Amino acid sequence: MKCRFCGTSLEHLFIDLGSAPPSNAYLDPETLLAPEKHFPLQVMVCDSCWLVQTSDFTNAEDLFTETYGYFSSMSDSWLAHSRRFVETVVDQFALGPNSMVVEVAANDGYLLQYVKERAIPCYGVEPTQNTAAAARQKGIDIVGEFFGEALGAKLKADGRGADLTVANNVLAHVPDINDFVAGFYKLLNDDGVASFEFPHLLRLVDGIQFDTIYHEHFSYLSLTAVDAIFRARGLTVFDVVELPTHGGSLRVFAQRSDTGRRPASERVAAMIEREQAAGVKSLDYYASMQKLAERVKDDFVEYLISAKRKGLSVAAYGAAAKGNTLLNFAGIRPDLIGFVVDRSPGKQGRFMPGSRIPIVAEEELRRKKPDRVVILPWNLRNEIKAQLSYIGEWGGKFVIAIPALEEFDA
Ligand SMILES: [Zn+2]
Repeated sequence: MKCRFCGTSLEHLFIDLGSAPPSNAYLDPETLLAPEKHFPLQVMVCDSCWLVQTSDFTNAEDLFTETYGYFSSMSDSWLAHSRRFVETVVDQFALGPNSMVVEVAANDGYLLQYVKERAIPCYGVEPTQNTAAAARQKGIDIVGEFFGEALGAKLKADGRGADLTVANNVLAHVPDINDFVAGFYKLLNDDGVASFEFPHLLRLVDGIQFDTIYHEHFSYLSLTAVDAIFRARGLTVFDVVELPTHGGSLRVFAQRSDTGRRPASERVAAMIEREQAAGVKSLDYYASMQKLAERVKDDFVEYLISAKRKGLSVAAYGAAAKGNTLLNFAGIRPDLIGFVVDRSPGKQGRFMPGSRIPIVAEEELRRKKPDRVVILPWNLRNEIKAQLSYIGEWGGKFVIAIPALEEFDA
């Protein structure tokens, strides 16, 4: 396989998580009776451009057959984060009634609603039908297509060029990162700004966050790699900010290399220096992840078996991609975790892919009173602990598996 950015042959393994079904392939009571497709889940590192990426395999189109989309508005903390983002950029880039804001992967309008509230013209690009429909219900104009160089050029030619583009948690999820990034160069007005947020590779490695790896998440990005990819497609990164979201993310601001006039913040060079001091341009940096992930897995399995032998009931919270990666890598089944609670009505009554653990509404937690609740999205630990603190009423405790097994009081 060749590097998705630079075309170099990929020879160095970062981590091998075995095989797993697509993380969003939730099962229904009927599909439980059918065979389930598993795909290898391996991540490689390119020793030329240092882009960390999932390996390719046949039938990749099977990954994207699910029509159910994740609704960003389901998370309170993500909504608050988006509102603050809009407040910041409106001031920083002096956006007003003559500006145009375009969000790529606009989802259900969770972010553009705050742009619209300020009477700043905007539209979204969102190919997933049910989330796009939810955005339109909020009165947001949506282009229902996949974004790339061709669509960026077409929108610009139609007089819909952007003064600000927003792409949060999508850069890492596109298979053809070259075409995707080129689309922003085409869509931006001369002095326009392109904003991206993505989980930071440094935090993945530091925090042993191997559960952020899943098939639909193609790239694991450092600023070092992003800077090279952007330059090759006519964009220059001029600022970078560290964020606590998704276990540690970067927000980068870029402009067209040919027409952008903003001076580069010293934070850009400082972050690239920090990454290189950590070792992102050496193979040693990537060599220990497999062993660290296996240790986390062993401790988690040991804990669950011990809980079962003591007669303790264990449930989990958060039926999302993170949980699926951990549960499948660890080989957990419903005998060790009885059910997973999730707020999303579209998942309730269904089953986790691979592990086949039933997904239920929060009422089940109060009804069944499990002794232990594993918080799968550890990045939302405080939010979930506050939301479910009532499990302490029956002596329930919380458990976190990553970066190290931890049991704590409600
Ligand atoms: Zn490469």
